[in-house]
Amino acid sequence: DQSLGQVDPEVAAAVAAELGRQRDTLEMIASENFAPRAVLEAQGTVLTNKYAEGYPGKRYYGGCEHVDVVEQLAIDRAKALFGAEHANVQPHSGAQANTAVYFSLLQPGDTILGLDLAHGGHLTHGMRLNYSGKILNAVAYHVRPDDGTVDYDEVEALAKEHRPRMIVAGWSAYPRQLDFARFRQIADSVDALLLVDMAHFAGLVAAGLHPNPVPHADIVTTTTHKTLGGPRGGLILSKEEFGKKINSAVFPGMQGGPLEHVIAGKAVCLKIAAGEEFADRQRRTLAGARILAERLLAPDAVEAGVKVLSGGTDVHLVLVDLVDSQLNGREAEDRLHGIGITVNRNAVPNDPRPPMVTSGLRIGTPALATRGFTEEDFTEVADVVAEALKPDYDAESLRGRVAALVRRHPLYADL
Ligand code: PLP
Repeated sequence: DQSLGQVDPEVAAAVAAELGRQRDTLEMIASENFAPRAVLEAQGTVLTNKYAEGYPGKRYYGGCEHVDVVEQLAIDRAKALFGAEHANVQPHSGAQANTAVYFSLLQPGDTILGLDLAHGGHLTHGMRLNYSGKILNAVAYHVRPDDGTVDYDEVEALAKEHRPRMIVAGWSAYPRQLDFARFRQIADSVDALLLVDMAHFAGLVAAGLHPNPVPHADIVTTTTHKTLGGPRGGLILSKEEFGKKINSAVFPGMQGGPLEHVIAGKAVCLKIAAGEEFADRQRRTLAGARILAERLLAPDAVEAGVKVLSGGTDVHLVLVDLVDSQLNGREAEDRLHGIGITVNRNAVPNDPRPPMVTSGLRIGTPALATRGFTEEDFTEVADVVAEALKPDYDAESLRGRVAALVRRHPLYADL
């Protein structure tokens, strides 16, 4: 049997080049991480060959005895790690996890109340071009203009006015912890279901460094590839009473055969996430983000007009606010890319610049923490980022400092 390089040198070359890119640059996209070798291995196994429509012990295909073991391990570990009564590990992605939840518990035209995309929400929380915004009646809440935190009074007022069937708490770009108890109380006051989408901060929850939404929410969704550091995929946790409906919404409602090779990767990542090394990694993730925010907040550190949304961070990312800066989001992203740091530009609330330009940057620390970066390394990273945002930055010298950092922490050394 021929190897990838023999069968398809073009694809093999692009994969090798991508490995080189990941090794030689500082990966600071807040939603990305480096899956450990054990997870990569699990995804490259013969489990990819197996059809297993259904659930462990109740399949529509023969020969599922081994994938049943794998999927049951993933389910049991997910429930144990987050303290959930029910887990469905089959969603192919975070978006499909959310869509399956809507499909299972709502009817077309029902009202949901979610965080506005432009204020840090996700597409699947009711954006007009997404399934959630097209099929459901989506109402959006916002962050407060003064401190950038969720305006719970507005959430409550909108809930009373629109009587949503479901309130969605969760975010893709928000630097603080949510008050799940407050969301629960608002949901109860209007008899709404509460969905928490913890895609971004699930790893912090697993490590006990962020409040766990599971006791407060009816359903909790997540991706497995962000702070959780596993394979690209989704996961749904819920109270037992919703388990049947959710299972049937995922399959046969939305998906056919589950990706058992990816589910194997999920099982592995959930095992790793229960360990002390993982908790240490999440602590360094948080410390790195805090160090970065502090550096960018120092008045002498950066170009005039560079600010940090909400004045800091409690999580794995920092939102840089460039509304008052000459530099826009696209220029800042390109400038960092030019010295070997990968981030994404991001609209800030009420952004005056167009969506393809934006006035913000989202900078995250999970991937570098996985790579082994310490607080000392993150201090150097923060210095380099701050320098790069100054008008008179020296690209050549900053590229050298990035190169020194990546050399200190080799990535995938045995691949
Ligand atoms: N939910 C949130 C909060 C997210 O940030 C994301 C991804 O960015 C998703 C869901 C969707 O995940 P996926 O890209 O796997 O569909």
